[in-house]
Amino acid sequence: MNDDITKNPEITNRGVNLQMQQELYQSPSEDAPMQQQAQMQAAVGVRCPSCGTMNDEGAMFCASCGAPLGKTTCPNCGAELDADADFCETCRRYVKKDVCSFCGAHLNDNDAFCPECGSPRGGIVCPVCHTLNEFSFCKQCGTALTEDARQLVAQVSTMPEYLEMQKLASELQQLDLILPYSSEREQVQEQLNTRLRERVLTLLANDRGIATPDIPKSNSKRMSKEEYEAKKNDRMQEIASILERMAQAPQPKPAMVRNYAMACRPQGVRLAWECNFKHALHSSPCGCAKPQMGGKWIILGKDTKKEIKDDK
Ligand SMILES: [Zn+2]
Ligand SMILES: [Zn+2]
Ligand SMILES: [Zn+2]
Ligand SMILES: [Zn+2]
Ligand SMILES: [Zn+2]
Repeated sequence: MNDDITKNPEITNRGVNLQMQQELYQSPSEDAPMQQQAQMQAAVGVRCPSCGTMNDEGAMFCASCGAPLGKTTCPNCGAELDADADFCETCRRYVKKDVCSFCGAHLNDNDAFCPECGSPRGGIVCPVCHTLNEFSFCKQCGTALTEDARQLVAQVSTMPEYLEMQKLASELQQLDLILPYSSEREQVQEQLNTRLRERVLTLLANDRGIATPDIPKSNSKRMSKEEYEAKKNDRMQEIASILERMAQAPQPKPAMVRNYAMACRPQGVRLAWECNFKHALHSSPCGCAKPQMGGKWIILGKDTKKEIKDDK
């Protein structure tokens, strides 16, 4: 069902077009003729939260993209929600009773399992960390919970961009294990120690009758603070640019974005998922009310002060 997400270039193009549409709508050129300005002021009604199209007052669905319009309330906690939100960020529950949270298929009132993907309506308990989940990947530990999710992971893990990103992520992890020199004195001291070690080993070898011994290089990976920071920033930027290219374009079904984003989540680095809905940072798209608008993973530094909206 998710098979074509990664292959279909149209998805990305549609995302770009949608964004252009929104920008065009939001920024009417300043020197627009009076007539045009008057027309814009006259355009009262409901603006589609998904595509920006203006719809007639009282319309239930967007004439252009079909998204539900207006507001509704969360059936669990009563918080106000956009009509096209499927998740309440206040009580952190899935709210669409007639739509499968795992695949987006329609559910009938008495379906205990989704007729399309077979997932249980009550959620799936993660076999690794035992968290109860309403979506295809564990919100706590990221484990793929359904057959479709596992297939998506297998598919994404062969993409060259994903492999490149994972390589950079593990280099970054290695860097975190290195202690940079705290001062120039410390660095000079270590160089002296290295030379001393070489001298001692040479003298010992000379004693055994070897004139020019082959001394193995000391395998210290330490470096100056500047070099360390530069290397780290370099890796972070490369990962960020790959994440930018792998950003999730808007999709008709929220499940498509949640599943794809979770499948291409890099391992071993601190991340947040930034949604296009409110540009909020979530710990994952599982905590966003409207992931169908798209979004992307953002790499967070070790000491970042950026705040994540939901902490799982
Ligand atoms: Zn619309
Ligand atoms: Zn709620
Ligand atoms: Zn389903
Ligand atoms: Zn888990
Ligand atoms: Zn969000």
